[in-house]
Amino acid sequence: MGGLNPDFEGETVIVTGGASGIGREVATQFGDAGATVLVADMDEEPKDGDVPTHERIEEAGGTAAFVDCDVTDRAELNALVEAAHEFGGVDVMVNNAGVYIEGSILELDPEEFDQVHAVNARGVYFGTQVAANDMLERDDPGVVLNTASISSNQAQLDQVQYDSSKGAVRMITRGAALELAEHGIRVNAVAPGQIATEFVEGLAERQRRAAENDEHIKPVPLGRAGEPADLAGAYLYLASDAAGYVTGELLHVDGGWQVF
Ligand code: NAD
Repeated sequence: MGGLNPDFEGETVIVTGGASGIGREVATQFGDAGATVLVADMDEEPKDGDVPTHERIEEAGGTAAFVDCDVTDRAELNALVEAAHEFGGVDVMVNNAGVYIEGSILELDPEEFDQVHAVNARGVYFGTQVAANDMLERDDPGVVLNTASISSNQAQLDQVQYDSSKGAVRMITRGAALELAEHGIRVNAVAPGQIATEFVEGLAERQRRAAENDEHIKPVPLGRAGEPADLAGAYLYLASDAAGYVTGELLHVDGGWQVF
């Protein structure tokens, strides 16, 4: 079956959390599709020790740059969006950076709760705010894409802090879509399932094993964990004109996990 082949030539795409994992693959595929990509992260080096994402895009003939950015800091998000002015301004803002801290609601420290929410929820909220304001100031409405999760809708043990932050991403997406629609800005989210990344150390291998035969968690209907490459097409689709009438949507890319 054929692929999508979207063309983002002349477009500027920001991907937060673009150094590793899902963001790295999303950034790379936007680069392959012709976009200028700003890879925004606190770390330039990917967790697997490979070449940084922006260099990988450039090696493949694309245009990319790395911007050091902590998404919990609105001033840094503003500087990030300003950095895109050099390339004509942000057209697609991908709020993907995230962190995971496991722990029981009976024990978790307030600082840990705040950290998860500061990155996963507040980072998405203010990433959307600064990108939307910049698009409106330039009179050039674009697209905002957020990385949600199967946790946006479903609770899992010892994850209240993470699940609630991803539930917030769902509602930030829907609320922002409603508010920004009159300005022509679309806002959507991708909800990954069990994806083999080093989101927490050793997770990739655990996800691959668990997806097939873990007795304690639900099996993935499609029979395997997802890889970052399974996700990227959803982001490119939602950013493209093919999705021009889609906003406020949470698109699950989870091998069918959420149908249980
Ligand atoms: P990852 O750890 O490989 O990538 C996350 C990236 O975010 C890293 O490069 C990290 O440096 C960056 N980051 C963390 N805090 C940051 C901050 N304050 N400012 C800027 N960058 C920051 O993990 P991943 O699995 O690729 O996760 C990407 C997104 O996907 C996250 O939002 C995560 O919640 C979501 N997600 C992952 C899974 C999964 O199974 N891996 C499932 C559902 C949702």
